[in-house]
Amino acid sequence: MKHTLKKLFLPLVLPLVLSAALALPAQARNRIEKLDTGIANVYLLSGRQPILVDTSGPGHEAEIEAWLQKLGVQPQDLAMIIITHGHFDHAGGAAYFRSKYGTPVLVGRGDLGMIQTGKMPENIEPTSFLAGFLRPFLAGTPFEPFEPTQIIDQEISLNAYDLPARVVPMPGGHTEGSLAVIFEDTHEALIGDLVRGSLVSAGQADEHFFHQNRLEVRWQLWNLLKQRGVTLFHPGHFGSFNSDAAMQRFFPDGKFQWG
Ligand SMILES: [Zn+2]
Repeated sequence: MKHTLKKLFLPLVLPLVLSAALALPAQARNRIEKLDTGIANVYLLSGRQPILVDTSGPGHEAEIEAWLQKLGVQPQDLAMIIITHGHFDHAGGAAYFRSKYGTPVLVGRGDLGMIQTGKMPENIEPTSFLAGFLRPFLAGTPFEPFEPTQIIDQEISLNAYDLPARVVPMPGGHTEGSLAVIFEDTHEALIGDLVRGSLVSAGQADEHFFHQNRLEVRWQLWNLLKQRGVTLFHPGHFGSFNSDAAMQRFFPDGKFQWG
C-alpha cells in the first residue's frame, strides 16, 4: 500500500497539489511584502503591476532597490509609489525613484506643501515625553522635494492594478494629507503613521510619537475598525497588529469619545 501511494504521488498527487497552489487567491502568495529600513517600513503590493507604498527617508534608496530586485521586481517596473504622508521618513526617497525611473507618485493633497518643499511642518504635537525629547532630532530633517504625478483628495480604487484595494484619505489626523490603503477582501490596511506597532511587544499597537491632531487620529482609527471593518493593520513603524490589539490599546472600554 505504502509503495503504491509513493508510485502514485508524482503523476497524480503532485499535479493536484501544484494546481491547488496556483489557484490560491493572490493574498495567500504574500501580496504585501515589508521592508523595515530601520527608520520606517516600506511595503510592496503585488498586483498585476507592483506598487510601492512609502520610500523611507533619504539614504535608503539603494537598500529599497536591492530589496525589490530580491523580490523579482525591477524598480523601473513599479506602476506607482503611494506616499502615505509627506514626512521625511516616508516621502524622503520618492524624488530619487521619480527622477531615476520616472515612477508615478501619488500623494494626498494636504501634504503637497511638505512634498514640494522637502520640509516638515511646525504643527506636529509630541504625544509623549519621549517624543518631545526626540523632536529636535526628527522634525527638521529635510529631503529632496518633488512634483507628484497624482494628487488625491478622495478615495480611489486600485482595481485597475489587479488589487482589490482602495486608497483612502485620512485628513487632519497624523497629517493633513495622510492616506491609508485598505484591502476590500482581506480587510488589511496600510496606515502610515496613524498608529505605530509597539517597540517592545510584537503584535501590539501604540501611539505614534507625533500627530497633527491626536483626537482626530483616534476618530479615524475608530472608523477603520467599526465602519471599514479593518482586522489587520500594517503601520509605517514597527510590527503589524490586529483589530483586537488596536481596541485594547486605544478603546479599552469599547467606546470612542471626543475629548
Ligand atoms: Zn509621520
